[in-house]
Amino acid sequence: MTKAGPRLPQGADAPSFVKSRWSDEEAAKLAGLDRLVYRSNRLGEDLTLTNTGGGNTSSKLVEKDPLTGEAVEVLWVKGSGGDLRTARRDGFASLYLDKLPAMKTLYLGHPERGPKTAIEDAMVPMYSHCVFNLNPRACSIDTPLHTFVPHRNVDHLHPNAVIAVVASVNQERLCREVYGDEVIYVPWQRPGFDIGLLIEKSIRENPKARGVLLGHHGMSSWSDDDKACYETALEIVERAARYIEARDRGERTFGDGSTPRCRTPSGGASRPRSCPGCAGGSRPSGGWSPRCRTTRRCSASSAVTTDRAWPASARPARTTSCAPRSGRSSPAGTPRAETPRR
Ligand SMILES: [Zn+2]
Repeated sequence: MTKAGPRLPQGADAPSFVKSRWSDEEAAKLAGLDRLVYRSNRLGEDLTLTNTGGGNTSSKLVEKDPLTGEAVEVLWVKGSGGDLRTARRDGFASLYLDKLPAMKTLYLGHPERGPKTAIEDAMVPMYSHCVFNLNPRACSIDTPLHTFVPHRNVDHLHPNAVIAVVASVNQERLCREVYGDEVIYVPWQRPGFDIGLLIEKSIRENPKARGVLLGHHGMSSWSDDDKACYETALEIVERAARYIEARDRGERTFGDGSTPRCRTPSGGASRPRSCPGCAGGSRPSGGWSPRCRTTRRCSASSAVTTDRAWPASARPARTTSCAPRSGRSSPAGTPRAETPRR
């Protein structure tokens, strides 16, 4: 690995929400793809860092071409399906890096480009023309999130703390507030070739950036050093969690307590009954239960929102979905769900 980047803070500034699971001793025994497997498993087994099965990782490594015997650069990226926590060597797709610029030329040469264009869909099978060593593992649709990042390692994750920021109304401003120019922001866009090029352009314009926040989706970190990439991911999650904690108002975070409590048929405040949005599985006869911890509306409620006590700068948008789902309606102003292959 090449020269390491910044490390996690130590001492009083040491992370308190995330915990590094990286062992220098274990990692030192590994090389190449095995180190990527090791890093992926450490990330995937920690639900603070990514929801189950979510995210994907990559390393750009030098390999011996099986046909020519020459040293070639290969992008190893977690394949479609599977889980970071349990991924093994055969869970990663491998692509000749020097063939990928041809895909870019093909894409940019098309008159109609963008996340919902025909050329975007046509790019997916083109990855098959770049496969290294006849590896049968299919690429994830998130592969462009890794391809055009000009660093050797990329960790793309879906951490709850980060999603809380990027699902908020003022997500771009919040990103600047939390990370300054160390982490760039890219609005929601369907994973694909176009967002890969968007990230590449953003990095070119913000060379100091060590990661990106993806609106309504998650984040990525990068570094030429694999441990630094892992630790940058932890740092991004830690900073989001600290920001949120500093604005936590306890019971009032998602409401000021003045909204109607769930009531019994006789009208007295009580334990609510069977509301699907409440922690206690309760249904109020009207309004929000103070026990509701989500922004979902109780099925029997009137149009009461939980926005009032939430600081304007950190107010969540009415979706917390990081992995959009197909065929379900989206709240007004939030992106339509789609189903990426991961
Ligand atoms: Zn993702």
